[in-house]
Amino acid sequence: MKEIEISTALGKELDSAVVKAAAARALGVKETMVGECRVIRRSIDARKEPLWKYRMAVARKDEQLPDTYELKPYKDVHSAPEVIIVGSGPAGMFAALRLLQEGLRPIILERGCDIHERKRDIAALNTGSLLNADGTPHVKPDSNFCFGEGGAGTFSDGKLYTRSSKRGDIREVLYQLCAFGADESILIDAHPHIGSDRLAAIVEKIRLCIIEHGGEYHFNTRVTDFSSCAEGIKVTAVSGSETVTYTAAKVILATGHSARDIYRLFESKGWALQAKGFALGVRAEHPQSLINKIQYSGKYQSYMPTAEYSFVTQVEGRGVFSFCMCPGGLLVPSMTEDETVVLNGMSNSGRSGKLANSGVVVSIEPEDFPEYMEKHGALGLMELQSEVERNMYRATSSFKAPAQRMMDFCRRIPSKDLPKSSYHPGVVSAPLHELLPEHVSWRLKLAFPYVGNKLMHGYYTNDALLLGVESRTSSPVRIPRDPETLEYVSLPGLYPCGEGAGYSGGIVSSALDGIRCAIAASGSQDSRSGSE
Ligand SMILES: Cc1cc2nc3c(=O)[nH]c(=O)nc-3n(C[C@H](O)[C@H](O)[C@H](O)COP(=O)(O)OP(=O)(O)OC[C@H]3O[C@@H](n4cnc5c(N)ncnc54)[C@H](O)[C@@H]3O)c2cc1C
Repeated sequence: MKEIEISTALGKELDSAVVKAAAARALGVKETMVGECRVIRRSIDARKEPLWKYRMAVARKDEQLPDTYELKPYKDVHSAPEVIIVGSGPAGMFAALRLLQEGLRPIILERGCDIHERKRDIAALNTGSLLNADGTPHVKPDSNFCFGEGGAGTFSDGKLYTRSSKRGDIREVLYQLCAFGADESILIDAHPHIGSDRLAAIVEKIRLCIIEHGGEYHFNTRVTDFSSCAEGIKVTAVSGSETVTYTAAKVILATGHSARDIYRLFESKGWALQAKGFALGVRAEHPQSLINKIQYSGKYQSYMPTAEYSFVTQVEGRGVFSFCMCPGGLLVPSMTEDETVVLNGMSNSGRSGKLANSGVVVSIEPEDFPEYMEKHGALGLMELQSEVERNMYRATSSFKAPAQRMMDFCRRIPSKDLPKSSYHPGVVSAPLHELLPEHVSWRLKLAFPYVGNKLMHGYYTNDALLLGVESRTSSPVRIPRDPETLEYVSLPGLYPCGEGAGYSGGIVSSALDGIRCAIAASGSQDSRSGSE
């Protein structure tokens, strides 16, 4: 068996005769002796003439390529011991699937509603039709872009790349997603993505599988307390007007980085929490045609995939980087509380919108804001995050986003007018450079011209719009766990998991952490579980 690389022009299919000839050369055999040829990786090289680059595994006729990844079967767990999972985001769902594989019964408690009801709430949030009694805009506290079935990743671009391969076998996540309906291209693409239009159906199929095998889902069930009890852990929750309790020996806590009530609960109990660095900044929105032109060096054609971008640089000792770029996407209101404005991005699978958006954010460490740390302890950066989100609302007195043209932001002058934005609730010209903490605003001011001059010519333009605020990049708090057992240091039997616990960022790494916690909770010795 050998690996070969083949390139073809974008828009052209792989030519099997060319593959066969290259395979024969690599294997040192005649073309008639070439057996299976399998694509294992596909990426775009746009440095000169835009090309697809394929990495392929090829074998002689008398050899066999190794099998593709084999998923463990899900067991029937109707009468198996229960593990409670709080939260049905990627960490919670993949923990549940892994528990099925280990023969344990997942009981999922989710504060939000199922995907169908959630879609309606999200549409109402986008169009601004949810109002408080006094006529101010309202976001449902348990059903929004962050909370509800599937978690924060459900209405997203569904980008599936991660740098954290040491945390587990990414193939376990990708193959399961394919088993639940994702396109198999995610198995080979260097930058796989699913798209919002397809994610909802996948999330629902995962639920149906979990229930069919004996697991349970409880929607509209917001967990409010944890305590030790004879069975292990008692979990208290509010469901409608009722208080309900559940008990189990093991509980996986996968509540995501927006569940501020969970951090506040632990703090009120005097349980361990640690402040953790995160990143905050703006969403930058450019015409997608400009990004295509920059990234394909002016050679973009409509049959080519819509261009993405990413950059990272350092400004005065802190990272400034693009985050969660959505080609041809939409900006969405991702706040979870009234009187705040938070933005994020999503795209459909075709990524065919006219605008490209991306977070552009600055790293923040606890020592950058000593006054918040002194006042709020481990929750210092969370309080900072929350204050900036409220500042954005105050600037517009609505869910409209404060916005400024890119060059105006860097020159520190308000914009007289604004270009079109994909953000449905609307935009209002405002001095973002003043609304953001100076730590962030100053570094962004230096970073944008640098990116435009050195990394992506044309990126620094007044046709680009900056909108505030991108603040939910990762958790500003860590819930510390034992590195060996993964149990919470303040409550053994509880497994802080995923992004909210501070152990992952993004869909795939959160799913991987869910798998790790499920393995730990089940006591299984799986060598594929990755390291802390
Ligand atoms: C609009 C948007 C777009 C994004 N795009 C991408 C992308 O393209 N690619 C990518 O990798 N990442 C993306 N992300 C980030 C990604 O969604 C998260 O990193 C990931 O979902 C984290 O997974 P998690 O399971 O740890 O937490 P979450 O997905 O946040 O899930 C937590 C779950 O817990 C529930 N919950 C919270 N508190 C309680 C409680 N007290 N009781 C019961 N249930 C509770 C919530 O309702 C939620 O369902 C995006 C996020 C957003 C908001």
